[in-house]
Amino acid sequence: NKTGVNELRRMFLEFFESKGHLAMKSFSLVPHNDNSLLLINSGMAPLKPYFTGQEIPPRKRVTTCQKCIRTGDIENVGKTARHGTFFEMLGNFSFGDYFKTEAIRWSWEFLTEVVGLDPDRLYPSVYLDDDEAFDIWNKEIGIAPERIFRFGKEDNFWEHGAGPCGPCSEIYYDRGEKYGCGKPGCTVGCECDRYMEVWNNVFTQFENDGHGNYEELAQKNIDTGMGLERLAVVVQDVDSIFDVDTIKALLNKVAELAHTEYQKDASIDVSLRLITDHVRSCTFMISDGIMPSNEGRGYVLRRLLRRAARHGRLLGIEGRFLAELSKTVIELSKDGYPELEEKKAMILKVLTEEEDKFNRTIDQGLAILGEMEEKMAAAGKTVLDGEDAFKLYDTYGFPLDLTREILEEKHFEIDEAGFKKAMQEQREKARAARKTTNYMGADVTVYQSIDPALTTEFVGYDKLACDSKI
Ligand code: ATP
Ligand code: MG
Ligand code: MG
Ligand code: MG
Repeated sequence: NKTGVNELRRMFLEFFESKGHLAMKSFSLVPHNDNSLLLINSGMAPLKPYFTGQEIPPRKRVTTCQKCIRTGDIENVGKTARHGTFFEMLGNFSFGDYFKTEAIRWSWEFLTEVVGLDPDRLYPSVYLDDDEAFDIWNKEIGIAPERIFRFGKEDNFWEHGAGPCGPCSEIYYDRGEKYGCGKPGCTVGCECDRYMEVWNNVFTQFENDGHGNYEELAQKNIDTGMGLERLAVVVQDVDSIFDVDTIKALLNKVAELAHTEYQKDASIDVSLRLITDHVRSCTFMISDGIMPSNEGRGYVLRRLLRRAARHGRLLGIEGRFLAELSKTVIELSKDGYPELEEKKAMILKVLTEEEDKFNRTIDQGLAILGEMEEKMAAAGKTVLDGEDAFKLYDTYGFPLDLTREILEEKHFEIDEAGFKKAMQEQREKARAARKTTNYMGADVTVYQSIDPALTTEFVGYDKLACDSKI
């Protein structure tokens, strides 16, 4: 079945429209009035005010295809078949309207009847003591009890501090033995890519008072999320999200620019997939007005872009190439996101400028890092001085994570405390300098911005996703 990504998106939205849902446009990747989240990471995130009752939804049933970024998944990108830092999440939502029965029935109807997946390959999971969901799967849908998995809080209970929360029911697709890890006990829930988690149905039915006391909510909600790319993987029966029609076309373009081929060499493939993913993230982030910088969202963008640029070097691509790839992203995604086409000139300009800026220092930086590595090896050291890591950051524009990643490939580490100290010292120097050259009383903000890599690790932006695992 070769139904394309753009077609699957349409089919999903139309299906839920036929069930009385209002199809809304994807919200921006930049959260609105929400400080708890750096970037939108689920379909539910921008709809939070409707779930908490702060705002009245335009309709009690809504469906979206939401652009998402999960930087917490960055380490997985290129390595698993199913993770991107950027992906699209299909969702149907009920704000105090329908509940479990309809949600489960419709997800089953969509997967088995609309897109025609083989029911024998689908496996639902439910929360341990959610007998209600278990019975719907078993008695109403007709799934044998041994095919329904009961998982604990970790996997099947969505909760984020105090507030609305509840059990969820996920749907997995068995892609067959060839994708399995082969370990004994590999089954639904295994981290390998055989049983691919496709859809998460969250039943927000409780209110957590923050002390672990749960009260049934008067208004029960449905919040579901299905990765469009993963849906395409199972419908098109391909190896990974990088092999579905649209993304594959982009990946081929990367391979073409690098004068190489996909599936010839495992480490080349990781770089090809990583660039493919990161260019998608960068294109969508810029289209939502995010600019490269040294803090917050801008730093996430900078870090993804520079990581992609470095992998371009690994593939032997010389000079700039990201804007060229971005044109392909725009071409392939403008069907669902017409704003990409409208903002094309701006997107390409920002990418080009940022890439050029890094290109001026990357080769020198890589050479210097190479020398540092040689010195370390000669001295029998395995930890890079913080001062050196800071020099790479400050003079050559190497995000700390980039340096760490390059060193890890050779089993070296960074003295991160030393890095922070060097950063701190430089800030103090800058502050002292500012006192003497106080620009007519105005604040000089450059050094006031804090590099988030120093204060927080790049995890945790995904805290509000549909399950508590990430
Ligand atoms: P996984 O366990 O595979 O990491 P998840 O449980 O973290 O997925 P959820 O938070 O439940 O994912 O999100 C809902 C759906 O969004 C998932 O079932 C999946 O289809 C999709 N999804 C989640 N993370 C990603 C990602 N990084 N790339 C692509 N799709 C994703
Ligand atoms: Mg999961
Ligand atoms: Mg999940
Ligand atoms: Mg995850």
